[in-house]
Order: sequence, then C-alpha cells, then structure tokens
Amino acid sequence: MPLRFYNTLSQQVEDFAPARDNTVRMYTCGPTVYSFAHIGNFRTFTFVDILRKCLRANGFKLDHVMNITDVDDKIIRNATAEHKALKDYTAIYTQAFLEDCAALRLERPEHLVPATDHIDDMAAAIERLAATSHTYNTDGSVYFRIATFPGYGKLSHNDFSGNIAGARVDVDEYEKADARDFALWKAPKEGEMFWDTAIGPGRPGWHIECSVMAIKYLGETLDIHAGGIDLVFPHHENEIAQSESLTGKPFSRFWMHAEFLMVEGQKMSKSQGNYFTLRDIIERGYQPEAIRYLLASVPYRKSLNFTFDGLKSAATAILRVRNFKLRLETDKYPDGSNEQLAARTASAAQSFADSLNDDLNTAEALASVFEYVRDANSAMDSGEFRAGNVAAALDFLARFDSIFDVLKPTVQDGQLTDAAVDALIEERTAAKKAKNFARADQIRQQLLEQGIILEDTKSGVRWKRK
Ligand code: AMP
Ligand code: ZN
Repeated sequence: MPLRFYNTLSQQVEDFAPARDNTVRMYTCGPTVYSFAHIGNFRTFTFVDILRKCLRANGFKLDHVMNITDVDDKIIRNATAEHKALKDYTAIYTQAFLEDCAALRLERPEHLVPATDHIDDMAAAIERLAATSHTYNTDGSVYFRIATFPGYGKLSHNDFSGNIAGARVDVDEYEKADARDFALWKAPKEGEMFWDTAIGPGRPGWHIECSVMAIKYLGETLDIHAGGIDLVFPHHENEIAQSESLTGKPFSRFWMHAEFLMVEGQKMSKSQGNYFTLRDIIERGYQPEAIRYLLASVPYRKSLNFTFDGLKSAATAILRVRNFKLRLETDKYPDGSNEQLAARTASAAQSFADSLNDDLNTAEALASVFEYVRDANSAMDSGEFRAGNVAAALDFLARFDSIFDVLKPTVQDGQLTDAAVDALIEERTAAKKAKNFARADQIRQQLLEQGIILEDTKSGVRWKRK
C-alpha cells in the first residue's frame, strides 16, 4: 500500500512522496516555552514522531524543522513576574521540554530553532512584505493586510468574503484596520523588552516566526507542515498568507493536523486547568513509555480521551508484547519451521505496514500486532511454533518497535541497568552450581527489591521488570 495522508488543504487523502531528492522537508510548530508542556501538547508531538518514523520506514530521508516559541505575551508576563531575563526564563522550560521529549522517546528534529535567534530574519521578511504593500503600520506595530491575499481561508475552508469586521479572530490587543489582520511586529509597550531592528524597536508576532524559519531552512515550498488542529486557524492560515505573499509559491504541499487529547469531553489545556504534565504522570508511578503508547495508539485524526484506566491498559499492552519477546528469546523450540506460521508472520507484518501507510492508522497497526501475538503464543503452547519461526517473529517485533518504541523499559535513576541485572543473574547461576544456595537466594531477593522478577525455566533464567 502506498503511503497516503489526509491533507487538510485539499480535504482528501492523497498519495505522499517528497517533491525532491527523496527527502521530506517538514516543518512542525513547536512549544511555547512559558511553562511545562502538558500531555495534550505531547499528543501532537508524539504524532509528529510517529510520522517521522513512518516516513523513514518508507525509505525517505528527513529534513525537519521545529521552532521553539521563546517570545510571546505569556512568556514576557511570566518572566517579568519572576524578575528573570527572557532567555533565562525560557531556558528553563526549553530544557524541561527536551527532557520530556527524551523520556517519551521523541526524536529530535534535524533543526530545533528558537524564534529569538531569528529576529533579524523576521524583520527582513516584514520589510519585504511592506515593500509589496502587504502591510500597514499603527503606532510602531506592523500588521498584515489580509485583503491583499485573496487565498485567505483556503486551509481552514472558511469563507471570508463577507463582512466580518468586528469578529475577533486574533488575540492581539492592537489597533487593526480589519479584524482579520494580524500583527507581524509589535511595538514595545511601556517597560517591555524589545529588539532594535531595521524596522524599528519591538518583537515579532507569533505567525511570522514559523514562516521565516520554515523558508530559511527548508526552502519556499515544504512537503509537510504539521501541528495540532487548533493551529489551522488562524495560525496556519496566517502562515500561508505571509509565506505565499513573500514567495509567490505554495507554502506547503501537505498540511497535517492532530486532533486533541481530551479530558471528560474538554480539550486538555492550561487555561481549563484540566491538564497533566508528563512529570505528574511519572510521579504517579507510570512509565513514560505507557503514556507514549497511549498517545500513539489512537489514530491522530481522532480525538483521544485521557483516563488513568486507559494509561493502565497501555502499560498492560506493552507488557504483553515484552513478555512475548522474552518468550521468543529464551524458550527452546523444536527444530524446523512451521510454514503456516511463517505465512501468518509475514501477513501480520504486511498489514502492520499497510495500516500505518493508510494515513497512520496506528489502531489498526496495533491490532495486527496483538492478533499475531495471541496466535503465536497459542502456537507456542501447542508446540507448533518452531525454532525456524523465531527470527521472523523477532523481526516483526523490531519493526513494531521502530515505530512505537516501547519495548525497552525506562531505567529510572538508581535502578539497575539491563547489563547489571544480567551480571547478577550469571553470578546467581554460578552460585547455584557451586551449591551456594544462600548467595543465590540473596541475589534473587536483591533483584526483587529492585523490581526485577526472575523465572527459572527449562531453557534458563528469564527476568523482567515489575
Ligand atoms: P503550544 O505550546 O501552546 O504552542 O502548543 C504546542 C502544540 O500542542 C501545538 O501544536 C498545539 O496545537 C498542541 N496542543 C495543545 N493542546 C492540545 C491538546 N489538548 N491535544 C493535542 N494537541 C494539543
Ligand atoms: Zn507555527
């Protein structure tokens, strides 16, 4: 099955391939670093990670930019309240974001770019927009005049042809000629920090940062632009207006948007107060891979209701696959190969890949894994699973894990590493051989205290983390 994605721009599922040299040029909107990100934010970032991995599984190379929004109203407000310089304040939450991404096993984009490192590029872009009459100034702030961009509304499929003056579609507090117009550049308010640039003192609006950094690193037309569904309008619509006015070219061929993580029917958000950070979840004793699995398990275009029961089921699902893998690695099977089972493994791997290629249908992909695990486990129980079937089964699990990345348990601070556990088990086996049962029991107890469970089987010692 060829790779296909739903494109918000065309409202169709379309075959996907990058435009040039087998490399996907992709831009995704990053976090605003005014506080810890919540797991709703991470639903979108996990979707982006699954997208990256599926693109790579299709043989494409990646050139991916993600911005860090490190200047905006909330950041300025919070930094001022804490008497911190902007950079010092945002450094804390940028670092926290990177730590959370690492815990969730989200790959680093090829370019992770803070907005404040590109202020002069933004000022230059605004100058170019001004030179082509797309802007106007009010009290030192610069606005984009939507009336100069006839395609406005093509992404969100809003019809803006009627008179909508008076409708508030942006949160800027500045004077605008038309309610749709948005700030490209904001003049400093009393006592506020600002940058001195070719277009005067001030700071950039949020929308211009993404257009400028996307074009700078990836060129005038991207293959994919992605983010959460709340960014379609006005953020991405405004990005299109600015970028296409600058270049005269389509800004992005594909636009992909993740639906929300919800809590009891409401979008998870800071302003509702109904949110959990990753740190909250880990403090409650859950592994980061359980939240990763949960966020990835529902296809990105369906909203996902967060519950702790759902999180527990995610942890159980991971354990099932880990136990199956352990069984594959440690049990002894009769020689030969079961051809029927070999065909079953191949078809499960094929439907896994096909489901993901079908607009990242993660739920269907996972179903093909779990149905296979069930069938293979019963083949093992009945003695039909043969030594010759092991390699293909492990290969399928490796493919599963190259996308979902949940099989390796997270080792927390102070926990034994896998290698240390293996070494203790070897010592225990040697102690038993030497009939030093006291030492063998001591090691079993020591491991148990660290949450490691040993199982003596015919084919040797198996272990797992609790
Ligand atoms: P922000 O840090 O507010 O700029 O948001 C970062 C990303 O998280 C954006 O792509 C948002 O669309 C996304 N986002 C915010 N809330 C949610 C949610 N409840 N579910 C999924 N994505 C979200
Ligand atoms: Zn953006």
